[in-house]
Amino acid sequence: MYEGKRVLIIGLAKSGSAAAILLHKLGADVTVNDQKPLEENEAAKQLERLGIRVICGGHPLDLLDEPFDFVVKNPGIPYKNPLVAKAVEKELPVITEVELAYEICEAPFIGITGSNGKTTTTTLVYEMLKEAGRKPLIAGNIGTVACEVAQTANGDNWVVTELSSFQLMGIQAFRPHIAVLLNIFDAHLDYHGTKEAYAQAKGNIFKNQTESDYAIVNADDEIVMQLAEKSRANKILFSATKQLESGIYVKNEAIYWDEEQIIALSDIVLPGKHNLENILAAIAAAKLAGADNEAIARVLATFTGVKHRLQYVDTVDGRKFFNDSKATNILATQKALSAFGGQSVILLAGGLDRGNEFDDLIPYLKHVKAIVLFGQTAPKLERAAKQAGIETVYHVDNVEKAVPVAYEISSPGDIILLSPACASWDQYKTFEQRGDIFISAVHKLK
Ligand code: ADP
Repeated sequence: MYEGKRVLIIGLAKSGSAAAILLHKLGADVTVNDQKPLEENEAAKQLERLGIRVICGGHPLDLLDEPFDFVVKNPGIPYKNPLVAKAVEKELPVITEVELAYEICEAPFIGITGSNGKTTTTTLVYEMLKEAGRKPLIAGNIGTVACEVAQTANGDNWVVTELSSFQLMGIQAFRPHIAVLLNIFDAHLDYHGTKEAYAQAKGNIFKNQTESDYAIVNADDEIVMQLAEKSRANKILFSATKQLESGIYVKNEAIYWDEEQIIALSDIVLPGKHNLENILAAIAAAKLAGADNEAIARVLATFTGVKHRLQYVDTVDGRKFFNDSKATNILATQKALSAFGGQSVILLAGGLDRGNEFDDLIPYLKHVKAIVLFGQTAPKLERAAKQAGIETVYHVDNVEKAVPVAYEISSPGDIILLSPACASWDQYKTFEQRGDIFISAVHKLK
Protein backbone atom coordinates (compact mmCIF):
# COMPACT_ATOMS: atom_id res chain seq x y z
CA MET A 1 0.00 0.00 0.00
CA TYR A 2 3.00 2.32 0.31
CA GLU A 3 4.74 1.35 -2.93
CA GLY A 4 5.64 4.48 -4.87
CA LYS A 5 4.05 6.80 -2.29
CA ARG A 6 5.93 10.03 -1.65
CA VAL A 7 6.37 10.54 2.06
CA LEU A 8 7.88 13.35 4.08
CA ILE A 9 9.09 12.41 7.56
CA ILE A 10 9.49 15.40 9.88
CA GLY A 11 11.63 14.89 12.96
CA LEU A 12 13.88 11.90 13.44
CA ALA A 13 14.52 10.45 16.89
CA LYS A 14 13.83 6.73 17.26
CA SER A 15 10.34 6.69 15.84
CA GLY A 16 11.16 8.85 12.79
CA SER A 17 14.09 6.64 11.85
CA ALA A 18 12.04 3.48 12.26
CA ALA A 19 9.26 4.92 10.11
CA ALA A 20 11.74 5.97 7.42
CA ILE A 21 13.37 2.55 7.28
CA LEU A 22 10.03 0.76 7.16
CA LEU A 23 8.56 2.94 4.41
CA HIS A 24 11.76 2.71 2.39
CA LYS A 25 11.61 -1.06 2.69
CA LEU A 26 7.99 -1.06 1.54
CA GLY A 27 8.95 0.80 -1.62
CA ALA A 28 7.89 4.33 -0.69
CA ASP A 29 9.83 7.35 -1.89
CA VAL A 30 10.99 8.75 1.46
CA THR A 31 12.35 12.18 2.33
CA VAL A 32 13.46 12.83 5.87
CA ASN A 33 13.68 16.31 7.38
CA ASP A 34 15.33 17.02 10.72
CA GLN A 35 16.28 20.19 12.59
CA LYS A 36 19.75 18.97 13.60
CA PRO A 37 22.54 19.63 11.06
CA LEU A 38 23.82 16.58 9.23
CA GLU A 39 27.33 16.80 10.75
CA GLU A 40 25.92 16.15 14.24
CA ASN A 41 23.12 13.88 13.11
CA GLU A 42 24.09 10.21 13.35
CA ALA A 43 20.57 8.96 12.69
CA ALA A 44 20.30 11.04 9.52
CA LYS A 45 23.67 9.85 8.27
CA GLN A 46 22.62 6.27 8.80
CA LEU A 47 19.46 6.79 6.75
CA GLU A 48 21.47 8.41 4.01
CA ARG A 49 23.69 5.35 3.85
CA LEU A 50 20.54 3.30 3.22
CA GLY A 51 19.78 5.50 0.23
CA ILE A 52 17.10 7.62 1.90
CA ARG A 53 16.97 11.30 1.00
CA VAL A 54 17.81 13.45 4.00
CA ILE A 55 17.38 17.21 4.48
CA CYS A 56 18.82 18.50 7.74
CA GLY A 57 19.54 21.69 9.64
CA GLY A 58 16.07 23.28 9.55
CA HIS A 59 12.55 22.86 8.24
CA PRO A 60 12.55 24.61 4.82
CA LEU A 61 8.97 25.48 3.82
CA ASP A 62 9.55 25.02 0.11
CA LEU A 63 9.99 21.30 0.75
CA LEU A 64 6.23 21.11 0.60
CA ASP A 65 6.16 22.44 -2.94
CA GLU A 66 6.98 18.86 -3.85
CA PRO A 67 4.01 16.53 -4.35
CA PHE A 68 4.05 14.47 -1.16
CA ASP A 69 1.23 12.00 -0.51
CA PHE A 70 1.45 12.22 3.26
CA VAL A 71 3.58 13.33 6.18
CA VAL A 72 4.84 11.38 9.18
CA LYS A 73 5.51 13.76 12.07
CA ASN A 74 7.43 13.12 15.26
CA PRO A 75 4.82 13.35 18.06
CA GLY A 76 6.88 15.98 19.91
CA ILE A 77 6.79 18.48 17.06
CA PRO A 78 3.82 20.82 17.55
CA TYR A 79 1.24 21.52 14.87
CA LYS A 80 2.22 25.16 14.99
CA ASN A 81 5.63 24.27 13.53
CA PRO A 82 5.49 26.17 10.19
CA LEU A 83 6.27 23.13 8.07
CA VAL A 84 3.62 21.02 9.80
CA ALA A 85 1.14 23.90 9.61
CA LYS A 86 1.77 24.18 5.88
CA ALA A 87 1.22 20.45 5.39
CA VAL A 88 -2.09 20.70 7.24
CA GLU A 89 -3.05 23.73 5.16
CA LYS A 90 -2.32 21.74 2.01
CA GLU A 91 -4.65 19.05 3.40
CA LEU A 92 -1.94 16.41 3.44
CA PRO A 93 -2.59 13.62 5.94
CA VAL A 94 -0.18 14.14 8.87
CA ILE A 95 0.23 10.95 10.86
CA THR A 96 2.61 9.71 13.54
CA GLU A 97 4.68 6.57 13.58
CA VAL A 98 2.24 4.55 15.66
CA GLU A 99 -0.41 4.93 12.99
CA LEU A 100 1.96 3.57 10.40
CA ALA A 101 2.68 0.64 12.71
CA TYR A 102 -1.03 0.02 13.03
CA GLU A 103 -1.53 0.06 9.27
CA ILE A 104 1.01 -2.66 8.57
CA CYS A 105 0.35 -4.80 11.65
CA GLU A 106 -1.50 -8.10 11.60
CA ALA A 107 -2.05 -8.17 15.36
CA PRO A 108 -4.84 -6.32 17.15
CA PHE A 109 -3.91 -3.29 19.27
CA ILE A 110 -4.59 -2.46 22.88
CA GLY A 111 -4.13 1.32 23.20
CA ILE A 112 -3.81 2.94 26.62
CA THR A 113 -3.99 6.64 27.28
CA GLY A 114 -4.70 9.17 30.03
CA SER A 115 -2.84 11.98 31.75
CA ASN A 116 -1.36 9.70 34.40
CA GLY A 117 -0.92 5.95 34.77
CA LYS A 118 -0.24 5.01 31.16
CA THR A 119 3.05 3.24 31.75
CA THR A 120 1.83 1.40 34.83
CA THR A 121 -1.36 0.21 33.14
CA THR A 122 0.43 -0.74 29.93
CA THR A 123 2.96 -2.78 31.88
CA LEU A 124 0.22 -4.51 33.89
CA VAL A 125 -1.74 -5.47 30.77
CA TYR A 126 1.42 -6.78 29.16
CA GLU A 127 2.38 -8.85 32.23
CA MET A 128 -1.14 -10.28 32.60
CA LEU A 129 -1.32 -11.33 28.95
CA LYS A 130 2.16 -12.79 29.08
CA GLU A 131 1.31 -14.77 32.21
CA ALA A 132 -1.82 -16.03 30.46
CA GLY A 133 0.17 -17.15 27.40
CA ARG A 134 -1.51 -14.64 25.07
CA LYS A 135 1.75 -13.51 23.39
CA PRO A 136 1.64 -9.75 23.95
CA LEU A 137 4.20 -7.39 22.42
CA ILE A 138 4.87 -4.05 24.05
CA ALA A 139 5.38 -1.12 21.70
CA GLY A 140 6.16 2.57 21.95
CA ASN A 141 7.46 4.57 24.91
CA ILE A 142 8.48 1.71 27.16
CA GLY A 143 9.07 -0.98 24.59
CA THR A 144 10.47 -1.26 21.13
CA VAL A 145 9.51 1.33 18.53
CA ALA A 146 5.99 0.51 17.28
CA CYS A 147 6.98 0.15 13.60
CA GLU A 148 9.56 -2.48 14.49
CA VAL A 149 7.14 -4.41 16.70
CA ALA A 150 4.46 -4.25 14.01
CA GLN A 151 6.73 -5.95 11.49
CA THR A 152 7.32 -8.95 13.73
CA ALA A 153 3.74 -9.34 14.99
CA ASN A 154 1.25 -11.84 13.64
CA GLY A 155 -2.43 -12.54 14.23
CA ASP A 156 -1.69 -14.49 17.45
CA ASN A 157 -0.07 -11.52 19.14
CA TRP A 158 -1.52 -8.51 20.91
CA VAL A 159 0.29 -5.20 20.53
CA VAL A 160 0.05 -3.29 23.81
CA THR A 161 0.96 0.37 23.55
CA GLU A 162 0.65 3.56 25.56
CA LEU A 163 -0.39 6.60 23.59
CA SER A 164 0.29 10.25 24.35
CA SER A 165 -2.03 13.08 23.39
CA PHE A 166 0.66 14.11 20.91
CA GLN A 167 0.28 10.79 19.11
CA LEU A 168 -3.49 10.76 19.27
CA MET A 169 -4.04 14.28 18.03
CA GLY A 170 -3.56 13.52 14.34
CA ILE A 171 -5.18 10.08 14.23
CA GLN A 172 -6.53 9.14 10.80
CA ALA A 173 -7.31 5.42 10.68
CA PHE A 174 -5.78 4.10 13.92
CA ARG A 175 -8.33 1.81 15.57
CA PRO A 176 -7.36 -0.10 18.70
CA HIS A 177 -9.55 -3.13 19.29
CA ILE A 178 -9.33 -2.31 22.99
CA ALA A 179 -8.92 1.32 24.07
CA VAL A 180 -8.32 2.48 27.64
CA LEU A 181 -8.85 6.06 28.81
CA LEU A 182 -7.71 6.44 32.40
CA ASN A 183 -8.15 10.09 33.34
CA ILE A 184 -7.80 13.65 32.10
CA PHE A 185 -5.92 16.25 34.15
CA ASP A 186 -4.53 19.59 33.02
CA ALA A 187 -1.41 18.74 31.09
CA HIS A 188 0.60 19.81 28.07
CA LEU A 189 -1.34 23.03 27.68
CA ASP A 190 1.75 24.52 26.03
CA TYR A 191 1.25 22.04 23.16
CA HIS A 192 -2.51 21.80 22.91
CA GLY A 193 -3.47 25.33 23.93
CA THR A 194 -6.60 24.52 25.92
CA LYS A 195 -7.76 21.70 28.17
CA GLU A 196 -10.60 21.05 25.70
CA ALA A 197 -8.13 20.55 22.84
CA TYR A 198 -6.07 18.26 25.03
CA ALA A 199 -9.13 16.22 26.03
CA GLN A 200 -10.23 16.02 22.40
CA ALA A 201 -6.84 14.63 21.44
CA LYS A 202 -7.14 11.95 24.13
CA GLY A 203 -10.69 11.19 22.99
CA ASN A 204 -9.37 10.46 19.51
CA ILE A 205 -8.41 7.03 20.81
CA PHE A 206 -12.09 6.13 20.25
CA LYS A 207 -12.44 7.91 16.92
CA ASN A 208 -12.35 4.93 14.57
CA GLN A 209 -13.61 2.26 16.93
CA THR A 210 -16.74 0.34 15.89
CA GLU A 211 -19.36 -1.77 17.66
CA SER A 212 -16.98 -4.72 17.59
CA ASP A 213 -14.36 -2.87 19.69
CA TYR A 214 -14.08 -2.04 23.39
CA ALA A 215 -13.62 1.24 25.24
CA ILE A 216 -12.53 0.90 28.86
CA VAL A 217 -13.29 4.14 30.68
CA ASN A 218 -13.04 5.62 34.16
CA ALA A 219 -16.55 6.15 35.53
CA ASP A 220 -15.10 8.49 38.18
CA ASP A 221 -13.77 10.99 35.65
CA GLU A 222 -16.41 13.30 34.18
CA ILE A 223 -14.39 14.38 31.17
CA VAL A 224 -13.51 10.79 30.32
CA MET A 225 -17.20 9.89 30.46
CA GLN A 226 -18.12 12.81 28.21
CA LEU A 227 -15.54 11.75 25.65
CA ALA A 228 -16.75 8.15 25.79
CA GLU A 229 -20.30 9.21 24.96
CA LYS A 230 -19.26 9.69 21.37
CA SER A 231 -17.60 6.27 21.12
CA ARG A 232 -19.35 3.53 19.14
CA ALA A 233 -17.42 0.80 20.94
CA ASN A 234 -18.76 -1.41 23.74
CA LYS A 235 -18.17 0.58 26.88
CA ILE A 236 -16.67 -1.11 29.89
CA LEU A 237 -16.76 1.18 32.93
CA PHE A 238 -14.41 0.95 35.87
CA SER A 239 -14.58 2.70 39.22
CA ALA A 240 -12.31 2.74 42.25
CA THR A 241 -14.89 4.63 44.33
CA LYS A 242 -18.37 3.23 43.69
CA GLN A 243 -20.17 0.00 42.92
CA LEU A 244 -21.32 -0.30 39.32
CA GLU A 245 -24.28 -2.21 37.96
CA SER A 246 -22.12 -3.32 35.09
CA GLY A 247 -18.36 -2.99 34.83
CA ILE A 248 -15.37 -3.44 37.04
CA TYR A 249 -15.38 -2.06 40.59
CA VAL A 250 -14.62 -2.69 44.27
CA LYS A 251 -17.07 -4.35 46.68
CA ASN A 252 -16.42 -5.98 50.07
CA GLU A 253 -12.67 -5.37 49.75
CA ALA A 254 -12.46 -7.24 46.44
CA ILE A 255 -12.48 -6.44 42.73
CA TYR A 256 -15.56 -7.52 40.81
CA TRP A 257 -16.47 -7.56 37.14
CA ASP A 258 -20.26 -7.48 37.11
CA GLU A 259 -21.13 -10.23 39.62
CA GLU A 260 -17.88 -12.16 39.36
CA GLN A 261 -15.16 -11.70 41.98
CA ILE A 262 -11.73 -11.42 40.37
CA ILE A 263 -9.34 -10.87 43.30
CA ALA A 264 -9.34 -9.71 46.93
CA LEU A 265 -7.65 -6.36 47.51
CA SER A 266 -5.48 -7.98 50.17
CA ASP A 267 -3.92 -10.18 47.46
CA ILE A 268 -2.64 -7.14 45.53
CA VAL A 269 0.80 -5.79 46.40
CA LEU A 270 0.82 -2.54 44.40
CA PRO A 271 -0.08 0.32 46.78
CA GLY A 272 -2.19 3.43 46.19
CA LYS A 273 -5.70 4.34 45.12
CA HIS A 274 -4.36 5.70 41.85
CA ASN A 275 -2.85 2.31 41.16
CA LEU A 276 -6.17 0.67 41.95
CA GLU A 277 -7.58 2.60 38.97
CA ASN A 278 -4.74 1.36 36.81
CA ILE A 279 -5.32 -2.20 38.05
CA LEU A 280 -9.06 -2.09 37.32
CA ALA A 281 -8.45 -0.84 33.79
CA ALA A 282 -5.69 -3.38 33.21
CA ILE A 283 -7.83 -6.29 34.40
CA ALA A 284 -10.61 -5.27 32.02
CA ALA A 285 -8.23 -5.03 29.05
CA ALA A 286 -6.43 -8.27 29.87
CA LYS A 287 -9.69 -10.20 30.30
CA LEU A 288 -11.07 -8.88 27.02
CA ALA A 289 -7.88 -10.09 25.35
CA GLY A 290 -8.34 -13.55 26.82
CA ALA A 291 -6.39 -13.60 30.08
CA ASP A 292 -7.85 -15.85 32.79
CA ASN A 293 -8.45 -14.75 36.39
CA GLU A 294 -5.71 -17.01 37.75
CA ALA A 295 -3.03 -15.45 35.55
CA ILE A 296 -4.27 -11.97 36.47
CA ALA A 297 -4.16 -12.83 40.17
CA ARG A 298 -0.64 -14.23 39.91
CA VAL A 299 0.60 -10.98 38.36
CA LEU A 300 -1.13 -8.80 40.96
CA ALA A 301 0.30 -10.90 43.79
CA THR A 302 3.86 -10.15 42.68
CA PHE A 303 3.84 -6.92 40.65
CA THR A 304 5.58 -4.28 42.78
CA GLY A 305 5.30 -1.40 40.34
CA VAL A 306 7.07 -0.05 37.34
CA LYS A 307 10.58 1.11 38.12
CA HIS A 308 10.69 4.62 39.64
CA ARG A 309 6.89 4.80 40.00
CA LEU A 310 6.12 4.14 43.62
CA GLN A 311 8.26 1.06 43.18
CA TYR A 312 8.78 -1.12 46.22
CA VAL A 313 12.55 -1.56 46.56
CA ASP A 314 13.27 -3.56 49.69
CA THR A 315 12.72 -3.94 53.42
CA VAL A 316 15.70 -3.27 55.69
CA ASP A 317 15.25 -4.02 59.41
CA GLY A 318 11.51 -3.54 59.15
CA ARG A 319 11.70 -0.29 57.16
CA LYS A 320 10.08 -0.42 53.73
CA PHE A 321 11.77 1.59 50.97
CA PHE A 322 9.84 2.96 47.96
CA ASN A 323 11.31 4.64 44.89
CA ASP A 324 8.96 7.20 43.30
CA SER A 325 11.64 9.16 41.45
CA LYS A 326 9.18 9.69 38.57
CA ALA A 327 7.28 12.06 40.90
CA THR A 328 8.66 15.20 39.28
CA ASN A 329 5.74 17.41 40.34
CA ILE A 330 3.54 18.06 43.37
CA LEU A 331 0.54 16.10 42.07
CA ALA A 332 2.58 12.90 41.80
CA THR A 333 3.98 13.28 45.33
CA GLN A 334 0.46 13.93 46.66
CA LYS A 335 -0.60 10.60 45.13
CA ALA A 336 2.38 8.82 46.62
CA LEU A 337 1.76 10.22 50.12
CA SER A 338 -1.94 9.36 49.88
CA ALA A 339 -0.98 5.80 49.05
CA PHE A 340 0.53 5.50 52.54
CA GLY A 341 -2.32 7.22 54.39
CA GLY A 342 -2.20 6.47 58.12
CA GLN A 343 1.31 5.00 58.01
CA SER A 344 4.44 6.61 59.37
CA VAL A 345 6.43 8.01 56.46
CA ILE A 346 9.90 9.53 56.11
CA LEU A 347 9.91 11.55 52.91
CA LEU A 348 12.97 12.23 50.73
CA ALA A 349 12.31 15.20 48.46
CA GLY A 350 13.76 18.15 46.54
CA GLY A 351 15.24 18.97 43.17
CA LEU A 352 15.01 21.49 40.37
CA ASP A 353 13.41 24.83 41.28
CA ARG A 354 10.77 25.79 38.72
CA GLY A 355 9.64 28.80 40.73
CA ASN A 356 6.61 27.23 42.39
CA GLU A 357 5.90 26.96 46.13
CA PHE A 358 4.86 23.73 47.82
CA ASP A 359 1.74 24.85 49.72
CA ASP A 360 -0.36 22.26 47.89
CA LEU A 361 1.72 19.55 49.49
CA ILE A 362 1.05 20.68 53.08
CA PRO A 363 -2.27 18.81 53.62
CA TYR A 364 -0.60 15.60 52.44
CA LEU A 365 2.33 15.90 54.84
CA LYS A 366 0.24 15.25 57.97
CA HIS A 367 1.43 11.69 58.53
CA VAL A 368 5.00 12.41 57.51
CA LYS A 369 7.16 12.10 60.62
CA ALA A 370 10.41 13.39 59.14
CA ILE A 371 11.62 14.87 55.89
CA VAL A 372 15.09 14.69 54.32
CA LEU A 373 15.75 17.40 51.72
CA PHE A 374 18.24 17.95 48.92
CA GLY A 375 18.55 20.03 45.75
CA GLN A 376 17.51 23.56 44.84
CA THR A 377 14.03 23.43 46.35
CA ALA A 378 15.15 22.29 49.82
CA PRO A 379 14.46 25.67 51.53
CA LYS A 380 10.98 25.94 50.00
CA LEU A 381 10.14 22.38 50.97
CA GLU A 382 11.37 23.08 54.50
CA ARG A 383 8.87 25.94 54.78
CA ALA A 384 6.03 23.64 53.68
CA ALA A 385 7.20 20.92 56.08
CA LYS A 386 7.30 23.35 59.03
CA GLN A 387 3.80 24.59 58.21
CA ALA A 388 2.60 20.99 58.17
CA GLY A 389 4.01 20.60 61.68
CA ILE A 390 6.94 18.33 60.78
CA GLU A 391 9.65 18.90 63.37
CA THR A 392 12.36 16.64 62.04
CA VAL A 393 13.85 18.22 58.92
CA TYR A 394 17.28 17.28 57.59
CA HIS A 395 19.26 18.83 54.76
CA VAL A 396 21.69 16.63 52.83
CA ASP A 397 23.73 17.01 49.64
CA ASN A 398 21.96 14.44 47.50
CA VAL A 399 19.85 11.29 47.29
CA GLU A 400 22.74 8.98 48.08
CA LYS A 401 23.36 10.77 51.39
CA ALA A 402 19.64 11.04 52.14
CA VAL A 403 19.16 7.27 52.39
CA PRO A 404 21.44 6.54 55.39
CA VAL A 405 20.16 9.65 57.18
CA ALA A 406 16.56 8.52 56.70
CA TYR A 407 17.47 5.06 57.93
CA GLU A 408 19.18 6.47 61.08
CA ILE A 409 16.10 8.42 62.15
CA SER A 410 13.58 5.68 61.27
CA SER A 411 12.01 2.91 63.32
CA PRO A 412 10.81 -0.53 62.27
CA GLY A 413 7.49 -0.26 60.45
CA ASP A 414 8.31 3.09 58.84
CA ILE A 415 7.93 3.76 55.14
CA ILE A 416 10.98 5.49 53.62
CA LEU A 417 9.81 7.14 50.42
CA LEU A 418 11.73 8.94 47.68
CA SER A 419 9.08 11.11 46.01
CA PRO A 420 10.90 14.33 45.18
CA ALA A 421 7.98 16.53 43.91
CA CYS A 422 10.58 18.11 41.62
CA ALA A 423 12.43 17.38 38.41
CA SER A 424 15.91 15.95 38.82
CA TRP A 425 17.90 18.13 36.46
CA ASP A 426 19.58 20.33 39.08
CA GLN A 427 21.64 17.32 40.19
CA TYR A 428 20.91 14.37 37.93
CA LYS A 429 20.66 13.66 34.24
CA THR A 430 17.26 12.02 34.49
CA PHE A 431 14.72 10.87 37.07
CA GLU A 432 15.80 7.33 36.19
CA GLN A 433 19.38 8.07 37.27
CA ARG A 434 18.10 9.63 40.51
CA GLY A 435 15.99 6.53 41.20
CA ASP A 436 18.83 4.14 40.43
CA ILE A 437 21.06 5.96 42.91
CA PHE A 438 18.34 5.63 45.54
CA ILE A 439 18.02 1.90 44.88
CA SER A 440 21.73 1.26 45.18
CA ALA A 441 21.93 3.35 48.36
CA VAL A 442 19.16 1.19 49.86
CA HIS A 443 21.01 -2.00 48.92
CA LYS A 444 24.18 -0.58 50.52
CA LEU A 445 22.41 -0.34 53.87
CA LYS A 446 22.38 -4.11 54.00
P1 ADP B 1 2.39 7.99 32.75
O1 ADP B 1 3.00 6.93 31.90
O2 ADP B 1 1.01 8.36 32.29
O3 ADP B 1 3.26 9.16 33.02
P2 ADP B 1 2.99 6.34 35.09
O4 ADP B 1 2.33 5.03 35.15
O5 ADP B 1 4.40 6.42 34.65
O6 ADP B 1 2.10 7.31 34.19
O7 ADP B 1 2.84 7.05 36.51
C1 ADP B 1 3.47 8.30 36.74
C2 ADP B 1 3.00 8.90 38.04
O8 ADP B 1 1.64 9.32 37.89
C3 ADP B 1 2.98 7.92 39.22
O9 ADP B 1 4.19 7.95 39.93
C4 ADP B 1 1.85 8.44 40.07
O10 ADP B 1 2.32 9.48 40.90
C5 ADP B 1 0.89 9.06 39.07
N1 ADP B 1 -0.24 8.18 38.67
C6 ADP B 1 -0.16 6.93 38.16
N2 ADP B 1 -1.38 6.43 37.90
C7 ADP B 1 -2.26 7.38 38.21
C8 ADP B 1 -3.71 7.47 38.15
N3 ADP B 1 -4.46 6.47 37.70
N4 ADP B 1 -4.26 8.63 38.57
C9 ADP B 1 -3.52 9.64 39.01
N5 ADP B 1 -2.18 9.62 39.11
C10 ADP B 1 -1.54 8.51 38.72
